[in-house]
Amino acid sequence: MSTEATMLERCGNKCELCAAETSLSPFVVAPHSHVTVDHAIMLCETCSSQIENPESMDVNHWRCLNDSMWSQVAPVQVVAFRQLHRLSAEGWAQDLLDMMYMEEETKTWAETGLENDGLKHVDCHGAPLQKGDTVTIIKDLPVKGSSMVVKIGTMVRNIGLAQDDPELFSGKVEGQSMWLRCEYCRKK
Ligand SMILES: [Zn+2]
Repeated sequence: MSTEATMLERCGNKCELCAAETSLSPFVVAPHSHVTVDHAIMLCETCSSQIENPESMDVNHWRCLNDSMWSQVAPVQVVAFRQLHRLSAEGWAQDLLDMMYMEEETKTWAETGLENDGLKHVDCHGAPLQKGDTVTIIKDLPVKGSSMVVKIGTMVRNIGLAQDDPELFSGKVEGQSMWLRCEYCRKK
């Protein structure tokens, strides 16, 4: 039986995270790069596109993790853990994370890549920032090339970190995506 057929049998033709039955395809769980039964899961298009583009994440869709985090399949646990981690600004997601159980080996895998190894992004007090964090802006920041000012006290949720610059994070302010300097934010 092919890898994909084995995986389809395992998941019963349902997305392994949200149980949707449409357009399933294998999703390789980083840092692995090949589809194997042990390193990939079957995901619907909604789940895989939101994992790849965290900016477009629909928080409510991920309530499905409430069920799928109890899967016996290690790569499913890994993805569930990482998604809950991204969503941990939400009280319910943090609660699920606290309840989650994984074998030591699976947990190590799940935590791989959560923090950027080389580059350390830190806030104004030196606290480490992580992708998905919520931060508060600590001074008025004019936005280059526009009349917009990001006001002191603005909350930015679900931030992203610049892969190549430890001083920058990305976030949405008033619906606009922008890069901001880590030194002007405080982690919530
Ligand atoms: Zn899904």
